[in-house]
Amino acid sequence: MYSEILAPVDLAHPETAKRMVTEAKALADKTGSKLTLLNVVPAIPGFAAAELPAGTIKKMVSDAERELRKLASDLGLDKSARTMLRSGKPHSQILQVADEISADLIVIASHQPGIEDYLLGSVASRVVRHAKCSVLVERQLD
Ligand code: ADP
Repeated sequence: MYSEILAPVDLAHPETAKRMVTEAKALADKTGSKLTLLNVVPAIPGFAAAELPAGTIKKMVSDAERELRKLASDLGLDKSARTMLRSGKPHSQILQVADEISADLIVIASHQPGIEDYLLGSVASRVVRHAKCSVLVERQLD
């Protein structure tokens, strides 16, 4: 049914990320699909980046890489899931990586709890609108 599942992970919200990745993993197991976890370190505008000490952005990416690997290992996925890091606009990078790996499903979380005004966050809604493959929105119901 699926062969390549992409699960974009927002490291700023680890509980949401764990819940979503657990669901993506269950689906990957059920369908015999590969699973890729992706984190996007948001790009810093050029004028602000110029003010940062040298190496700051590199360090942000390597810290994020470490955190993403730890999350994968905490969930027992060290061997079964691939991890990827990108820098840029989260929704653009998610869509680009989905194309690159020929994902046939993106599993994404809908929202942080407590934000009731919108059904989807801004990253999730852009991904749902523009993805060329199926998107599963994991919604927290409590
Ligand atoms: P919220 O505003 O509630 O955080 P978003 O739409 O921004 O809603 O995020 C929903 C989901 O989009 C996240 O749980 C994650 O799956 C994905 N996402 C958001 N930001 C990133 C990011 N920087 N890298 C990877 N995935 C992300």
